[in-house]
Amino acid sequence: MQLQNYINGEWQPSSASEFLEAINPATTEVLAQVPLSPAAEVDLAAQAAVAAFPNWRRTPVQNRIQYLFKLKTLLEANFDELARTITLECGKTLAESQAELQRAIENVEVACGMPMLMQGYNLEDIARGIDETAIRQPLGVAAAIAPFNFPAMIPFWFMPYAIACGNTYIVKPSEKVPITLQKVFELIDQTGLPKGVINLVNGAKEAVDAILEHPAIRAISFVGSSPVAQYIYAKAAAHGKRVQCQGGAKNPIIVLPDADLKMTTRIVADSAFGCAGQRCLAASVAVTVGEAKKTFTDAIAQAARERAVGFGLEPGVQMGPVITRQSCDRITGLIQTGVDEGANLLVDGRSPQIQHYEQGHFVKPTILQNIQPQSTIAQTEIFGPVLGLLHLNTIEEAIAFVNHNKWGNMACLFTSSGAAARQFRYEAEAGNIGINIGVAAPMAFFPFSGWKESFYGDLHGQGRDAVEFFTQVKVVVERWPKDWSRQF
Ligand code: NAD
Repeated sequence: MQLQNYINGEWQPSSASEFLEAINPATTEVLAQVPLSPAAEVDLAAQAAVAAFPNWRRTPVQNRIQYLFKLKTLLEANFDELARTITLECGKTLAESQAELQRAIENVEVACGMPMLMQGYNLEDIARGIDETAIRQPLGVAAAIAPFNFPAMIPFWFMPYAIACGNTYIVKPSEKVPITLQKVFELIDQTGLPKGVINLVNGAKEAVDAILEHPAIRAISFVGSSPVAQYIYAKAAAHGKRVQCQGGAKNPIIVLPDADLKMTTRIVADSAFGCAGQRCLAASVAVTVGEAKKTFTDAIAQAARERAVGFGLEPGVQMGPVITRQSCDRITGLIQTGVDEGANLLVDGRSPQIQHYEQGHFVKPTILQNIQPQSTIAQTEIFGPVLGLLHLNTIEEAIAFVNHNKWGNMACLFTSSGAAARQFRYEAEAGNIGINIGVAAPMAFFPFSGWKESFYGDLHGQGRDAVEFFTQVKVVVERWPKDWSRQF
């Protein structure tokens, strides 16, 4: 199957000279050929979005959101098929794919509140007889550039808000997982959305650079690795665009001695090994404080060994493969670096034999014990099912470790002490905080709030931040005297 672009309300074959293979990472079966669309196809999408904007902007917001209500219904009607597609191309388990899709739908639901959300504000008599009003207006054309690990959810952090605010849109999915969005766009096509309001362009660097440089594109949302986030942030800003870039992460979880061991172990294992560790909110370092070391270490090692690994569509499987063979190699290389740096390989998940899926891109849950705070393994994003264990003596030392982290996507604390929880919530320098939570993923009506090198920009995705990102405020100061001669 050769994938197409969706431009101006029509499926269009790409004129790309290069195609990549989208692969099922569990079986290595080739699922589709993905075009690496040239800049000219981004330009076609931008032209379609520019042409659609004046009428879309004038469409009353309550009419705009009717298309989102239709899309929500269609996503729900096709839920099983879409979830299966996510598992096939991305590798996560079916339950994880269903959860991801649910999160995508929740963003559509929140954006349906746009008649309330994008209201401005006003004040009469800011001077005698003069009124002032702040109005929110759409920007024009905006675009999203997405990563591989949430093929359905991440474009939905942006797209529903952008169009509900009256913008027109272009999405560039990850070239590694392009099929889910093809299916989503088949549903978008059925909503009857006017031509050009949402466009899909497959591709990689050339398409991204064309988006960054295109004069008609006013705003860019990016999610992916930090080096690419920095590149996109700088280049988009240099081209005068509004930009928000969510980057990589290295998320610490602190376990205090008073934490409920059973609950903590289950939740930390789900955080570290769920989605094969390919979540920007995956726990990747667990810091045990004081007496928590012995009990937690034994329990988490057992949980890692017991996790059922395999093809995500099969019942009972708790963890799927990682995305590519290169990812496998990078992850196993980093595990070796940890060993070379002196860590103890408590659970070794390298080179597993998964029956019937011997060619698949599998790494089993891995635990490195006694890692050092400054070591590569403690400071590098692994993006695989690898958990480092670090031991410290006090909560203050643990918070200092969190705050020394160059990333700031998430930090979590496990405790039964309200005072410790309050101290952590107050002092920890990360944008998403979990207290007795392993994956502190904000719901659609809150911003996804990364800090430090996990985020470049000021307004985040989702919630009210998304409404601000996709609108610009116009302030109007007015005087309308009945009798001009009495005004002055
Ligand atoms: P990636 O940075 O390799 O790719 C992301 C997007 O950028 C893709 O669409 C890709 O085509 C494009 N791209 C890649 N290299 C490029 C280049 N040199 N020039 C222009 N465009 C380029 O990321 P990935 O491997 O797909 O995703 C994993 C990363 O995303 C991890 O670092 C993870 O932490 C991060 N992530 C962050 C969040 C968050 O909310 N902070 C969420 C999900 C994933």
